[in-house]
Parts: sequence; C-alpha cells; structure tokens
Amino acid sequence: MDTVSAFGLDIGATKTSGVAVGDDGDVLAEVREPTELGPAGLLRTAARVVERLTELGGRGPCGAIGVGVPGLVDVERGVVEHAVNLGLNGDRLRLAAVLGEQLGRPVLVENDVNAATLGAAEVTGATDLAYVSIGTGLAAGLLLDGRLRRGHDGAAGEIGHMPVDPAGSRCTCGQRGCLETIASGSALAASWPSDGTPPAQALFAAARTGDPAALVERDRFAGAVAGAVRLLALTVNVETVVLGGGVAQLGEALRVAVADALREQAAASSFLTALDLPGRVRVLPAGVPVAALGAALVGRSRA
Ligand SMILES: [Zn+2]
Repeated sequence: MDTVSAFGLDIGATKTSGVAVGDDGDVLAEVREPTELGPAGLLRTAARVVERLTELGGRGPCGAIGVGVPGLVDVERGVVEHAVNLGLNGDRLRLAAVLGEQLGRPVLVENDVNAATLGAAEVTGATDLAYVSIGTGLAAGLLLDGRLRRGHDGAAGEIGHMPVDPAGSRCTCGQRGCLETIASGSALAASWPSDGTPPAQALFAAARTGDPAALVERDRFAGAVAGAVRLLALTVNVETVVLGGGVAQLGEALRVAVADALREQAAASSFLTALDLPGRVRVLPAGVPVAALGAALVGRSRA
C-alpha cells in the first residue's frame, strides 16, 4: 500500500464513511459503519471508523483528520449546529475539540456538501465548479477559482430551498414549491414510489420502456435539476457543474436527461445557448466516496 497521507470521514444520518488517502489523492482504504445518532453516538461512530482505518492503513498521517458533517458548520471553531438528521436537536456539538481529544490528534470539520465539493474537484480535475448533491434533499457546494465559498452564514449553495413554483407543494423548510420538492430523492420517492429499487432507478427504467407517466415524471425531475444547473451557471458562472449524491448513481442516464432538459430550456434563447450549459454538466462516477475524500483533503491542507 502507498503511504497514507490523510484520513477523512463523512458522517451521514444512516452511515459514516471513512477513507485513507495517499499522497496523490488516491483512496487507499475505505470503511463504512452504521451511524449512531446523538452527540455521544456520533463520537463513538467516528472513533470506530478511525480505528478501522488504522487497522487497514496503519496509523496513517500525523496530521489532522478531516470530518464532513451535515448542518451548519463553524469551520474555525469546529462546531456543528442544526444537524437535525444526526440527532443534534438544538445541540451545538464541539465536534473538532471533543473528537480531537478523544483521538489524540487534531480534527478539522467541514460541511459535508462542501467536503464533497472538494472531493469532486479532486476526482474531476475541475477547479471552478459547483457540486450539486441530489440526495434526500438538494444542495450545492461552490468552489470558485479553487476556493470554497461557504457564505456569510455558511448557507451558500442552499439552492434546494429556492422556490420555483408558487403553487407547488410545501417544503420541509416551510416555504412552498422549493426546487427540492421536485429535484431530490425524497421528491422522487413521493412521485414514483417503488419497493426495493431506489425510486430514481425505477423511474428512469420505466421511462426507458416508454411508460408515458414515467416520461412525464422523469422530464419534470430532469427539468428541475436543469433549473438548478442554470441557476448556478447564471449566478456564479462556474466552468463545470458536477452532479453527485445518491440519485447520481443513475450515471450517464442522468447526465443525458439533464443535458436534454438544458437544451430544451435554451431553445428560444441564443444567450443561454451560447453558454453551452449541457456541455458543462458532469456526473460523478458511481461509488466514489467524495465527501470522505474531500474531508481527508481538508485535514491534510490545514494540518
Ligand atoms: Zn425548502
């Protein structure tokens, strides 16, 4: 095995991924553990993942361990808030300080979508990009000229809560008709229920057979994802938009559907056509743990 230069963790609501990364950014080892919720559970989970990485990859680097978590993250203080899905209801978790003390080495914390954005940049080679995470919800990370844009409140890229349909359904955030109510895994689960198969896979498979209802739903979904791409291209004008998250396991089928929708949206606009948005969209290769990878890069860069 090549020399391990960094460990990165991605703490999710159901599972926590950890990677050991080599000097060239290659993932040398990967582990997954079910996440125990609540402050104490999260710390136990993180410690277990680091222990398993150490078993696989040796003690690894002497530097910091990077950790990606959902919610509002104060990067400087290493504090996580508003991570309701992790069982941190109203808690301010001093994750960097407490975990760091427990592990006996420095810990750096980053929002999970931002960490995934750094991972997506590493995987694609792009340095000016928006990373669109299409999972349970919809959110984007922004790496502008090689620098993360977190925003004044750490809320940059929360495009899932951009209302696009005044008559749309109520969103979990309290507004109506947010992009996330159409362009997310949970929206697909509601509009195209399936048992066993992930809804996105089931919907796209049905659309491939020519099922008229599936075609309508797929085009509505792809149109909303294309809307997210257009929004990002017109606000921060990034060179590349990378689609990731659970729904992006669709791979090339997702890229094609979104590119087609972008072409259709630009049909009457020479301005949009000139921006060539279909040509800027990429989909992450399946199975790459980008958030954990990005977290490892965070740890390494600030070690
Ligand atoms: Zn919303």
